Amino acid sequence: MIEVKELSKHYPDKVALDKISLAFPAEKTTAIVGPSGSGKSTLLQALNLLERPDQGLLSIDDLTLDLAKPLTNNQILKVRQKTAMVFQEKALFTHLTVLKNLTEGPIKVQKKSKEEAEKKAFELLEQFDMSALSNRYPYQLSGGQQQRVAILRALAMQPKYLLLDEPTSALDPELEAQVLRVLKDLAAKDVSMIIVTHNMAFAEQVADQIVFIDNGQVGYAGPSTAFFHSENARIKQFLGAMS
Ligand code: ATP
Ligand code: MG
Repeated sequence: MIEVKELSKHYPDKVALDKISLAFPAEKTTAIVGPSGSGKSTLLQALNLLERPDQGLLSIDDLTLDLAKPLTNNQILKVRQKTAMVFQEKALFTHLTVLKNLTEGPIKVQKKSKEEAEKKAFELLEQFDMSALSNRYPYQLSGGQQQRVAILRALAMQPKYLLLDEPTSALDPELEAQVLRVLKDLAAKDVSMIIVTHNMAFAEQVADQIVFIDNGQVGYAGPSTAFFHSENARIKQFLGAMS
C-alpha cells in the first residue's frame, strides 16, 4: 500500500496540495480525477518523489519517509524501485529500438544481464501482441503503439506500483481505446495502478477506487460505484460538467 499523510505542496502563489491524506491499496486500480489545475499531477509525482512536497509522510509498503526532512539518495532509490511513471507525452528514447527501450532501465539501473532483460522484454512484447515491433524505432510506430511501448517500458522495471498521468490524452479515440484495453488487461491481472484520467467512462470501468482532487484537497476517496452514484452536490456538478 502507498499512503500519504498531511501531504502539502506550496508554490509561491498557489497551494497545490493542502494536507492531503490518502491510501492507495496494492493490487487495486485507483483513478485520480478532478478539474484541471486541481493538483492531480502534483500528487502523482509526489508519490515517486519527482515532485518534492514541502511536508507530510509518504509510506510505500514498509518504508515511511518524513518529507519535511532531507532525503538520502538511498531513500529516493527505494521509492523509485517500487514505482514507475508513465507520462502523458511520448517519452521513449528516440535513438533506441523498441527492444532497447525496454531493456535500457533494467540493464543500466537495475544491473540485470542483457539476457535476463531481453527475456523479460520479449515476454512483455508477446503478452501485448507487439513482438513484431521489437526492432523498430519510435518514429516508425503510431502514437498508440508508442504509448503502449511506454507502458511496457515501465512494466519492464517490474515495479510494484504503476503510476500513469493521463496516458491517453494525446491520442485519437481509436488509439485511446487500444491503450485503454492494455490498461484494462493490467487491472484485471491485479497490477497496482494509480491513473490520473479525465476519461470518466474508463475510470468507472477499471477503477476499484476513485480519488477526487478538488482545489488541492480530497473531495472524495472511496469505492468507484459510490462516487459515480454520489448525491454530493460538488461531485454531481463535476460529473455533469464532464459528460
Ligand atoms: P491538469 O488536469 O490540467 O493536468 P492537474 O490537476 O494535474 O491539472 P497540477 O499540474 O497538479 O494540476 O497543478 C496544480 C496547481 O499547481 C495548478 O494551479 C498549477 O498551475 C500549479 N503549478 C503546477 N506546477 C507549478 C510550478 N512549477 N510552479 C507554480 N505553480 C505550479
Ligand atoms: Mg496534470
